[in-house]
Amino acid sequence: MEDTAQVPAGREPGLSGGGVADREGRGRKAPVWVVDLDGVVWLAGEPIEGAGEAVARLLARGRRVIFASNNSDPRREDYAIRLERAGIDARGVELLTAADAAALLVGKGDRVLALGGRGLSEALEAAGAEVLEPSGDLRAPAPEGIAAVVVGWDRRFDFTRMAVAQRAVRAGARLIGTNEDATHPTPYGLVPGTGAFVAAVSAAAESPPVIAGKPHDPMLQLLAIAIGAESDVEVVAGDRPVTDGVLAARLGAPFGFVVSEVAASDLRAPGSRRGPRRGEEDSSGQVPWEAAWEAGSLLELVEMVTGAA
Ligand SMILES: [Mg+2]
Repeated sequence: MEDTAQVPAGREPGLSGGGVADREGRGRKAPVWVVDLDGVVWLAGEPIEGAGEAVARLLARGRRVIFASNNSDPRREDYAIRLERAGIDARGVELLTAADAAALLVGKGDRVLALGGRGLSEALEAAGAEVLEPSGDLRAPAPEGIAAVVVGWDRRFDFTRMAVAQRAVRAGARLIGTNEDATHPTPYGLVPGTGAFVAAVSAAAESPPVIAGKPHDPMLQLLAIAIGAESDVEVVAGDRPVTDGVLAARLGAPFGFVVSEVAASDLRAPGSRRGPRRGEEDSSGQVPWEAAWEAGSLLELVEMVTGAA
């Protein structure tokens, strides 16, 4: 499982599923932290206080850090810039996104209709797909020979894009969602997440999607390659039980539930159906709450798990 050549090409050094950590001598046996980004390290790209320090302490204490994000929108270079702004040296960590996971599901030379940001197109192109944009004209004939429609976080999502995508699926294309998060956290509250767009296309096409990102198989496959057979996952840290918590369960690792005040302020509004308290947001029954940690920030979590007793 340590053949990193299977990870899609086109990665920035230090942001691949490979092993900068190997070259720096920490080695594949080092315990791994799988860490979510949105709501844990940053909000809408703005660093959350202490996250950079938390990652620095993990690395100093001999852990490998693999970021696993369901955000398919940013390009690799955007991620590198955001990490640097959060005080994280991108060369010391690894990064897997839902765009990478979706790219596992397309073949070289496939014609793929992509609804999403530049990070999604970048990952699909790195996998050898021919990436097409939905036409902006409803009357235009549907493009021929589309192998897959991939729906990511599409800030330009509208009636026409949905209609074109839905037609391609009805014409035989596979429907792939990068992830199914219903919402996306921002400093000004929740905004629609990729799951909302995937659900819309799926409903219109009357066809169920295959989901690539956390906690589904393609992302799990990428993580297995990146983690390697010899390493153990110490904690899966994230702010969303239904994705990060279930991912922890599937990796057989404890869940580190980061209930960040910044991320949670909106969710905690009186009457909110989704108050993010331990267990409340988990209807899956899969999250390993009996082994879970709960902390107000990534830094607090790192100190709880790896700090001096
Ligand atoms: Mg998150």
